[in-house]
Amino acid sequence: MPRFTPLAADLPSTVPFVGPENTERARGRSFRARLGANENVFGPSPKAIEAMQKCAAEEAWCYGDPESFALRDAIAEHHNVGVENVVVGEGIDGLLGTLTRLLVQPGTPVVTSLGAYPTFNFQVAACGGALHAVPYRDWYEDPDALAAKTLETNAPLTYLVNPDNPMGTFHQPAVITKLVDQLPDDGLLCLDEAYCEFAPQDELLPIDVSNTKLIRLRTFSKAYGMAGARMAYAIGHADLIGAFNKVRNHFGVNRIGQAGALAALGDRDWLTHCVSQIADANARLADIARDNGLAPLGSHANFVAMDTGRDGAFSKAVVEAFAARDIFIRMPGVAPLNRHIRISAGTEHDLDIIAEAMPAVLEEADRATSSGA
Ligand SMILES: *Cc1c(COP(=O)(O)O)cnc(C)c1O
Repeated sequence: MPRFTPLAADLPSTVPFVGPENTERARGRSFRARLGANENVFGPSPKAIEAMQKCAAEEAWCYGDPESFALRDAIAEHHNVGVENVVVGEGIDGLLGTLTRLLVQPGTPVVTSLGAYPTFNFQVAACGGALHAVPYRDWYEDPDALAAKTLETNAPLTYLVNPDNPMGTFHQPAVITKLVDQLPDDGLLCLDEAYCEFAPQDELLPIDVSNTKLIRLRTFSKAYGMAGARMAYAIGHADLIGAFNKVRNHFGVNRIGQAGALAALGDRDWLTHCVSQIADANARLADIARDNGLAPLGSHANFVAMDTGRDGAFSKAVVEAFAARDIFIRMPGVAPLNRHIRISAGTEHDLDIIAEAMPAVLEEADRATSSGA
């Protein structure tokens, strides 16, 4: 065998997500509703599609610009920051990998929430970091607990997702500011804003790139409907953003994605259209939940978490019963969050399928998990 590092040799062989394609291969059939990964079923802006098609036809033979300069310039202008405050990466997942490589070595304490977005944990583990996870409070990530744990462990990195995945809850800007203020002077809050386009835009924390204690992560995967293109960016202090160049994969984002993201950023009408369609879909998902005796959480994202009032075994049976009907949904991975199921906003047709299947799915899950089953 090659000589793995002790760190790599000790890593578990688990992956943060099992993709829906894996289930499809195992079952030998495609899903008829794909509502488990919070993708935007309404797809990219037609302008982005056109830009990607043109790029694919004429320029796919070229490497992308390793600096993603045109895109960074447009993002910088959009947020009214400098181009040196923006780094583009292969999805937020890729940026999390780069950020952890910059801040985490074996034994470094890192703070997150118990049941929060798992790719972060995966990247921290890959660097050998010592992850400290604090519980949610009332289905919200708990900023006071995150701050206290950060101070207790002297962690250089603290992770918060807002609006949250998997619960869809949202913290007001004052809450985030207070958390950042509480961190050590050389601490850093990694604020994952994958769903920020779905939150009330006047309730987003203003961007302040002079603050070295905060980095913001945004993606084209969710509201912009381009998950397959793998395009995201981070905004922060120029010195922190500049450090990404030391370790990032310089050709990690592809030219077609760059062209698509640039066009998508410019099409605010399509974004507004999607956000409004998704709000309607969320409202209908909440109705479907209530009609079936589940308690939907208010969502500030493109999915609805539904409290089954039971436990993780029941939710798992629900997810499996949906899968048996060729419907892909997910659930939070960790107790006590895992008494919920999570369904992404879908088309009318998708939600018809959910509404139709839900009663039988719940009955089947009930049978599968009651005593004697
Ligand atoms: C979906 C999601 C991501 C992944 O974003 P990519 O840009 O597609 O890598 C990151 N963070 C959270 C919280 C997400 O839900």
